[in-house]
Amino acid sequence: MKNAPPEWFTHGMGHIWLPYTQMKTAADPLPVARTQGSRITLADGRELIDGIASWWTACHGYNHPHIRAAIQDQLALMPHVMFGGLVHEPALDLARRLVALLPDGLTHVFFCDSGSVAVEVAMKMAVQFWLNKGITARSRFVAFKGGYHGDTFAAMSVCDPEEGMHGLFAKVLPKQLIAELPIDPSSGQAFDALLERYAQDLAGIIVEPLVQGAGGMLFHDAQVLRHLRAAADRHGLLLIFDEIFTGFARTGTLFACEPAGVTPDIITLSKALTGGTMGLGATIATNTVFEAFLSDDPNHALMHGPTFMANPLACAAANASLDLFASEPRLRQVAAMEAALAHGLEPARDLPHVRDVRVKGAIGVVELNRIDDLGALKHRFIEAGVFVRPFRNIVYLTPAFTISEEDLNRLTGAVVSVLKDWTRL
Ligand SMILES: *Cc1c(COP(=O)(O)O)cnc(C)c1O
Repeated sequence: MKNAPPEWFTHGMGHIWLPYTQMKTAADPLPVARTQGSRITLADGRELIDGIASWWTACHGYNHPHIRAAIQDQLALMPHVMFGGLVHEPALDLARRLVALLPDGLTHVFFCDSGSVAVEVAMKMAVQFWLNKGITARSRFVAFKGGYHGDTFAAMSVCDPEEGMHGLFAKVLPKQLIAELPIDPSSGQAFDALLERYAQDLAGIIVEPLVQGAGGMLFHDAQVLRHLRAAADRHGLLLIFDEIFTGFARTGTLFACEPAGVTPDIITLSKALTGGTMGLGATIATNTVFEAFLSDDPNHALMHGPTFMANPLACAAANASLDLFASEPRLRQVAAMEAALAHGLEPARDLPHVRDVRVKGAIGVVELNRIDDLGALKHRFIEAGVFVRPFRNIVYLTPAFTISEEDLNRLTGAVVSVLKDWTRL
């Protein structure tokens, strides 16, 4: 660092606990002073081009004036009010607008405060759907190798137990069925046989459509989703699409399930929902799911209610983000990014130790055979003036959709040149 770190950093670091971080050995995190567009300014004045958009949330770039103004207006009126017994305009507007944008049939929105909780709510909805019908055995889920659905306990249970970050907890998690995605005839038959055998114990199937994100940036095609829909229908299972990563244009369409023409029974959204400004999650169900909770029995109500659900500031931010999807050419920008990422990352394909280069929408991935020292590689990227956060054997870019052509070229150029030096070692 050029200058000494700021006082808040030296005084506070001894008391902070960071995510997925071995606090004994990890290098110090970078103190950030501010963000703007696709740039992160560090406390020492250095500026990094952001390749990750803060875990895929800041899809319009940081500090977009339209979202900022919406939050400020809402702040003056009402930063928060509880959602038990009370409702407000930002939440009801947002619910109506999400339903209008989602595939037909998804009609009822339950808000919460994060992605993992949106997944918890989806799983609870699915289990209670059956309980409300008097069917107690249908409580387990089919999930997939390479899948990631969050860090809370139910969400952890449907993550890939081997590739994921939660293998340590295997013994204390509910036992789910972790299957291969039905990507070809043989895996399709194996999947169908699995459902044939276990359907009576199953509440539903949960999958990230088209792109499995945190589990390894793995792509599959739309036919897989049609296979899952048909299989779910055959056994009366609920199909849950976790679009927390893929939703809001990341894969090239507003929602990843669109090209498959498949509507799930439940969908989860978060990450880019507020344009990267505030925590908010949503679980949206079909009328059929919703109606299973309508009853004269008070215990048939959906038994969930996070304190900060439907926070008005977060809902105002999400409404402003939806305004931007309508008023600015996001899908065209993503299409242009897809071409630029493919072109810019292509030279990495010929490097030693590179196993694959793949691009879908605004997601560019370089998969290596392995990365021995992730910390050192992260540091190389910082030195190259970009913020890129490789994990396991994956280096990926998921920038804001508003990134300039020049900054995007600098990102792909940095990935290729850093990996060129790196893989030569
Ligand atoms: C990030 C993510 C989650 C968890 O969201 P949090 O807000 O981190 O709890 C769940 N599912 C998918 C697909 C995600 O990418």
